[in-house]
Amino acid sequence: MAFDVIVVGLGGMGSATACHLARRGAKVLGLEQFDIPHELGSSHGVTRIIRLAYAEHPNYVPLLRRAYELWRELEDDAGERLLFITGGIDAGAPDSATVKGSLESCAIHHLPHDVLDGASLARRFPGFRLPSDMVAVHQPDAGFLLPERCIVAHAAAARRLGAELHTGERVLEWRNDDNGVSVKTDRAAYRANKMIVTAGAWMRTLLPELTDLAVPERQVLIWTQPLRPERFELGAFPVFNMEVPEGRFYGFPVYGVPGFKIGKYHHRREQADPDRMDRECHPEDEAVVRAGIRRYFPDADGPAIAMKACLFTNSPDEHFILDFHPGCPQVAVASACSGHGFKFCSVVGEIMADLILDGGTRFDIDMFRLSRFSSLGRGG
Ligand SMILES: Cc1cc2nc3c(=O)[nH]c(=O)nc-3n(C[C@H](O)[C@H](O)[C@H](O)COP(=O)(O)OP(=O)(O)OC[C@H]3O[C@@H](n4cnc5c(N)ncnc54)[C@H](O)[C@@H]3O)c2cc1C
Repeated sequence: MAFDVIVVGLGGMGSATACHLARRGAKVLGLEQFDIPHELGSSHGVTRIIRLAYAEHPNYVPLLRRAYELWRELEDDAGERLLFITGGIDAGAPDSATVKGSLESCAIHHLPHDVLDGASLARRFPGFRLPSDMVAVHQPDAGFLLPERCIVAHAAAARRLGAELHTGERVLEWRNDDNGVSVKTDRAAYRANKMIVTAGAWMRTLLPELTDLAVPERQVLIWTQPLRPERFELGAFPVFNMEVPEGRFYGFPVYGVPGFKIGKYHHRREQADPDRMDRECHPEDEAVVRAGIRRYFPDADGPAIAMKACLFTNSPDEHFILDFHPGCPQVAVASACSGHGFKFCSVVGEIMADLILDGGTRFDIDMFRLSRFSSLGRGG
């Protein structure tokens, strides 16, 4: 049976893409090598930050506004809460990329915010212990999503709208011709007019052209038992991003797992093969995040409750790849979200459906095109 679109990979981006395609009336086949959801890719660990003040680039803000709307629609559709607003802190030295970028996006997009010094931050959110030469931008719309539940909600909506979703089925190879795309898995072969690849850390196994543009990297998250739990409760503590001499940390109030959750971007800078990555967490992993907890969140410095390994997929400039395959206009790709993509899954699903069904989108995605990399041009 031929499909309109095959979606390869049903994690964060792929489940949303399958849902938006099905909503637009396309006949969709979604193929996932593991379960929905699972803990072997990039979208597990109970919580993901969503924030409107976007230090990475102000152009993300219009996408974020639409992402928030779509997450709320998905909540209504699923009948469960997926998005929690806690307020968010972007902290660092006044001239750090985090603080400057956050303030720039607030100014350009007229986002409500206030700027706090270390002492006023500690008065408002006593869990923080920031050095006096650091500042914090507080933006009230930030919060967190429940990634596993978001994936289940998108997949369930896609199925209700007629999409066929297969789990435990790995795509081994694909080919395009004048009439569409052929996909071979470890179970069967399929035909479709078009294909969208949302394979996360496995992207380059299916698209060798992306070998240097979508590079998997091992990450580790920790949850610790706070010594003063009331300082890290939901309602008392915001999500945060913090650029400090040790690196860039991010974290959450207690939710789901009874501990303070924190991670460090690019953890130990370990490139990884997602099929062979070390998924155990070791004392060396704990030491990296402990350094941040001890210095900046001493009231959270109790024993570890849990640690989990996860995968980033990084592009060279750490902006996403949302585009057609170079030289193969029936195929589009969404990947290399470089450790900050989950919050966008809802709107990326909409964008990918626009691209593959209409050939274009109303959103400005120029900065996510493959043509920005000298090694590749634009496909369609
Ligand atoms: C520790 C950590 C913390 C993060 N924190 C944040 C945060 O706070 N906020 C935020 O916005 N983002 C955050 N991110 C980034 C965000 O989680 C990712 O950008 C996002 O989850 C990527 O989604 P994805 O769909 O690309 O990948 P995935 O969700 O991993 O999906 C890819 C899917 O493709 C499947 N697949 C691959 N190859 C095949 C194949 N050949 N056949 C069939 N299926 C295949 C995989 O099994 C997988 O299910 C974080 C990431 C990590 C690792």
